[in-house]
Amino acid sequence: MLEKKSDNNGFYEDLGKSDPLTQIASLYLSLKVAFSESEDSSKESNLSDKEWEWFKKKLELYDLPYFKVRTDIKNPGYAVINAIADTTFLKDNELIELALMEKEMGTINGKDGIIEKLLNTYFKSLLDNKLLVLWEEHYKRLIRDKYLLEECFGPFDTNALKSQYSRLKESIKAHKAIQREAAAEAKRKEREAAAEAKRKEREAAAEAKRKEREEQIRKKNEAHEFKSSRGETFCKFCGKGDHYGSSPCDGRVNKHSYKHIKDSYGNWEIKCGKCGQYEWYSNSKCY
Ligand SMILES: [Zn+2]
Ligand SMILES: [Zn+2]
Repeated sequence: MLEKKSDNNGFYEDLGKSDPLTQIASLYLSLKVAFSESEDSSKESNLSDKEWEWFKKKLELYDLPYFKVRTDIKNPGYAVINAIADTTFLKDNELIELALMEKEMGTINGKDGIIEKLLNTYFKSLLDNKLLVLWEEHYKRLIRDKYLLEECFGPFDTNALKSQYSRLKESIKAHKAIQREAAAEAKRKEREAAAEAKRKEREAAAEAKRKEREEQIRKKNEAHEFKSSRGETFCKFCGKGDHYGSSPCDGRVNKHSYKHIKDSYGNWEIKCGKCGQYEWYSNSKCY
């Protein structure tokens, strides 16, 4: 059973951890209230979008699995809700007393055993859907809270489930092992993916750094370095005048070193001091 909490959020959060009977009763009670409220409405559309949103959110809080399981328990679920409504919301005082008296004697479960029918349907549906681990979990929660549930719903019998549990134990164990392996495998893959992502991140950072370095080198190589000698200004790497300043230098990367050199007639010329070539040669390698 649920422990009632003062704040609603806590109350609904606990739903998914409660026994299956509380969850199923809560689910179909909510749906019954929602649809009966709209029964009187003359409009075709039953619930507003906002109400549906609320229901969808609430549905996520239950750990009742799969739409198929919910479909399986729909009829026995409503049967229990209708029985609760019949005994609890009667207008006539005498009838209420009678109903409560009967309830103490187990009216909700009744001679038809509607709680037992609901539980058997639910647990069978879990089996049909091969949800054996959940079967055990919900069975244990049911037994844990049975004394509280019986205060609410009257006594009901879980012996059929109990003997089924002892028959299922080995299979449940096997399913648990499979789940554990799958979880370990998922974790391993997650770790691998994280490592791979980290590796890629490192690679991308290194590549960015490499490109940045390349760009720095390219910029440096393309920069002229002008100097003045004998009234002329020229780049020491490509030998060109400073009116070439806007186009990239091709001399530095080719390792020239231009300077004023006197020719055999005594004239000063701008030539590479290493290869002896004029400035037009700056785009070729110095030798
Ligand atoms: Zn230059
Ligand atoms: Zn040279």
